[in-house]
Amino acid sequence: MIRINENFLKLRAGYLFPEIGRRVRTFKEQNPRAKVISMGIGDVTQPLAPAVIEAMHRAVDEMGRAETFKGYDDAGVGYEFLRKPIVENDYKARGADIGIDEVFISDGAKPDTGNMQEIFGTDNVVAVADPVYPVYVDTNVMAGRTGQANQIGQYEGVVYMPATAENGFVPEPPDRPVDMIYLCFPNNPTGSVATKDQLARWVAYARKNKALILFDAAYEAFISEPDVPHSIYEIEGARDVAIEFRSFSKTAGFTGVRCAYCVVPRTLKAWRKDGQAVEVAPVWKRRHCTKFNGVSYISQAGAAAVYTPQGKKQIAQTIGIYMTNAKLIRERLTELGYQVYGGVNAPYIWLKTPDGLGSWEFFDRLLNEAHVVGTPGVGFGPAGEGYFRLTAFGTLANVREALDRFASL
Ligand SMILES: *Cc1c(COP(=O)(O)O)cnc(C)c1O
Repeated sequence: MIRINENFLKLRAGYLFPEIGRRVRTFKEQNPRAKVISMGIGDVTQPLAPAVIEAMHRAVDEMGRAETFKGYDDAGVGYEFLRKPIVENDYKARGADIGIDEVFISDGAKPDTGNMQEIFGTDNVVAVADPVYPVYVDTNVMAGRTGQANQIGQYEGVVYMPATAENGFVPEPPDRPVDMIYLCFPNNPTGSVATKDQLARWVAYARKNKALILFDAAYEAFISEPDVPHSIYEIEGARDVAIEFRSFSKTAGFTGVRCAYCVVPRTLKAWRKDGQAVEVAPVWKRRHCTKFNGVSYISQAGAAAVYTPQGKKQIAQTIGIYMTNAKLIRERLTELGYQVYGGVNAPYIWLKTPDGLGSWEFFDRLLNEAHVVGTPGVGFGPAGEGYFRLTAFGTLANVREALDRFASL
């Protein structure tokens, strides 16, 4: 008799985006003429940079000739032509000491943040922010690292750290030991960033408790303020306690191309039951190369072009388009009396719902009266109740129109 893995049955049904879809469909059926503007999805809309397209075209041509054809990417960890500019531009240029052999190319930061937990014991205590990117939690539920969910959707055994207006949406380390800490800065959904001092407190906590920080920096490219750290490795001592995740998805519009990477430093250790230290990087490499056969050569060639002078200029322009949207949203909503957060170093605006409305009540009001779709904050966790996420990934024309409709609410 084939038995199901019952950990998967603990997962709360994918509730948020299907429910949004259901409500939008119902609205459109009842209002076929309404032009609905979406500020809800976390997907990019601008096309790939010309430098990326040229590099990918060249790579396709190489694949078409026997002399330049590429099969499996040797070790499955990525080509050096990509790992080298990553190390130079994303780490060395920021004073972070990371080596080429510590970079693992993958098909996404979602798979990486989801898969990484596999190489750590199932008895580790997991800590996440509330609200949170659901992947961190759900993959630990699947692995059996939690109990059941309660009525508000929180799993037994997980330590939830509220990210609130009071702490600037950057939780402090908990007052008790935890083992696996997921941090995401710039943050999805709140748009917050952590300062160097705040990250330093996390690194100190992890060193003291022999804990691991899983640092998701998928939105690093959106940082605009000079003092904000771009990498956890800008913090002294982080090499011994942190794994970092990056992605070309939001940086360069690769959501449909697929290319990302994670950094697992050689100095990072985890412990066996008998107290003996084990190097983490070789274990991750073993897992990665056993279950994954590398990212397409064409995608990696495109990703490498992001680091050329042309590529850098072009992706900065695209990010500029999104961040102009973010600035408009932030400024106009502030003028209209909304309390808004984020949108400065991230493409997300996190707003306090007006008139004490719940997240879903505001969703319905915005949809019915302004024909604008956003994401209810409570969908990312109970501390998100009374908040609402807007994304800056739309077109300028749509953003302007949506804001005019906010004004007439
Ligand atoms: C979009 C996003 C990612 C990127 O995922 P990919 O699999 O690389 O497309 C990672 N983390 C967060 C928090 C995100 O919002």
